Amino acid sequence: MSLLGQSSVNHNFTHADATSRAREPERVYLSVPHMSGLEQAYVSDAFATNWLSSVGPNLDGFESEMAARLGHDVRTLAVASGTAALHLVLRALDVGPGDRVAVSTLTFAGSVWPILYLGATPVFLDSESRSGNLDPALVEDYLARAARDGTLPKALVVVHLYGQHADVDPIADACRRHGVALVEDAAESLGATYRGRQTGTTAEYAILSFNGNKIITTTGGGMVVTRDAVAMARMRKWANQSREPAVEYVHREVGYNYRMSNVLAGIGRGQLRVLDQRVQRRREVHQIYRNAFADVAELQWMPEPQGMRSTRWLTCLVLQGEGAVQRRDHVLRSLERHSIEARPVWKPMHLQPLFEGAPYFAHAEGDDVAARLFEAGVCLPSGSNLSDEQLDRVVDHLRRALQRAEVLGAAAV
Ligand SMILES: *Cc1c(COP(=O)(O)O)cnc(C)c1O
Repeated sequence: MSLLGQSSVNHNFTHADATSRAREPERVYLSVPHMSGLEQAYVSDAFATNWLSSVGPNLDGFESEMAARLGHDVRTLAVASGTAALHLVLRALDVGPGDRVAVSTLTFAGSVWPILYLGATPVFLDSESRSGNLDPALVEDYLARAARDGTLPKALVVVHLYGQHADVDPIADACRRHGVALVEDAAESLGATYRGRQTGTTAEYAILSFNGNKIITTTGGGMVVTRDAVAMARMRKWANQSREPAVEYVHREVGYNYRMSNVLAGIGRGQLRVLDQRVQRRREVHQIYRNAFADVAELQWMPEPQGMRSTRWLTCLVLQGEGAVQRRDHVLRSLERHSIEARPVWKPMHLQPLFEGAPYFAHAEGDDVAARLFEAGVCLPSGSNLSDEQLDRVVDHLRRALQRAEVLGAAAV
């Protein structure tokens, strides 16, 4: 039945339609850009001075301000995306065809693409059951076994899942003993700390992301962070079309056009100034959910171990008990019906069609922690620009969805 047809037979329709549309609630998103107003001045400056390309004061400023913020004498390189940043790092580590690179299975695909770009093979590692992060004991087992079999990876990428830092010191220790380079994927954890150290400085190499859904954004962008001056010089050259320092265009190696623009770096400088506020608000959002559902015992939340401070980039809950998978689906559908964007936890890489048959190292045969977290996990709207009213709405609908799911779950058993 077409709208046109109906309105022609029922003159009340137009009015009723307008009313119902007016009542349709504003969509609540998972995580969207949150500008501060400080960005505009840097962007305007780029226009006023005509630094509108991939060099300029905003780029220098963004890189040095981020380095100062992270401390530990790190060097930084602003690039087009977090994925590009990881590509540069893995190449600097001489990853190539025939090599293996180990990586958390519970992550976004951006942690993995660069392994494929370089012709290497990813080896996926299962999660620790409480945080979903890499389990130091599992990493130790994996590396010991790989050393025996002669299949050690060249590098290991540790992802700080949803902004919660992985327990990186014992992982770094195991990597050092086996001569494996360690890379932090800190795309979701900028602003987090681990034993008093800033995320991105707890391993020799790290990458950040400023994609639109991250803690701070440049609309799209990323950064390499390292103390390794030699590697940094190589990465800077590759990212800039591998131009040799000569007036004429001289190239000795393959390059990429990975530089960030000076305009976008300006957005980054404004965003960096409010990073602490952004993290603070995401942590508040997390606490609001935790308080609201403190009475619901069968929900598992990501813990924040002592000595670690999470960004709470996304707040995720994992349903427990019988029928958790069906209840999870019900919760996602109910929230969507009320225009609330919630998502499953990352679909683990070893379950992706693309990676069928790829090596996967789990705790034990048949005990797939990452798969369990994926099947029963829900990521809730977590942006720093959510209002208290929007959060009330999410809490209200989530509570009702959980209650109904409970009934459905009980009926299904
Ligand atoms: C977002 C993200 C990336 C990729 O960053 P882009 O800037 O989108 O390329 C990599 N790893 C993780 C864990 C991410 O969340």
